[in-house]
Amino acid sequence: MTVVGLLGLQGAFLDHIPHLKRCAVSYRIVRDSMALNAIDRLIIPGGESTVMAKFLEEFDMLAPLCRRIREGLPVWGVCAGSILLAEQVDGNAGSLSALPISVTRNAYGRQIASSVHFIDIPVMKQERYPAVFIRAPRIDRVGEGVTVHASRGNDPVFIQKEKIMATTFHPELNQDDCFHDYFLKV
Ligand code: GLN
Repeated sequence: MTVVGLLGLQGAFLDHIPHLKRCAVSYRIVRDSMALNAIDRLIIPGGESTVMAKFLEEFDMLAPLCRRIREGLPVWGVCAGSILLAEQVDGNAGSLSALPISVTRNAYGRQIASSVHFIDIPVMKQERYPAVFIRAPRIDRVGEGVTVHASRGNDPVFIQKEKIMATTFHPELNQDDCFHDYFLKV
């Protein structure tokens, strides 16, 4: 039976639980490297990427997590999670550096500029899906092998490379389970 890990160091990890329950999959909140060995997939939630990066190091999880990702662990990074997965963040080397993308943090403005944008997601047969952006990063560059599944204007907002996917918005805040369903199949 598949166990989905929810990185639970900081941020909006609890909001994923109702989705995972509806998808009838087991989950485990991951707060140490032991727990990393007991999961088959990992969701890195939205929150504050700088804090999460710091905790990953402090709790000796950074190297084990990088190793598991290299070995093929499917991972979904949401907003701050997509920042942690990026190769380059605001011109500097990223934390997990698992996706060949460059991002700019908080590129659409401050918390008060958070907004819903309607996006089309052909791979999920979704039209005008209401994507919630909260101090979202902008993906400025996508490298080789990265598929762009959805964009906001010209900016990619849902991307995937093999078993790693990233959304710069927060699907867990919507009722729809389409992103969790999709992630369980990557
Ligand atoms: N602005 C946050 C960061 O830089 C991300 C915000 C979010 O995850 N909603 O980490």
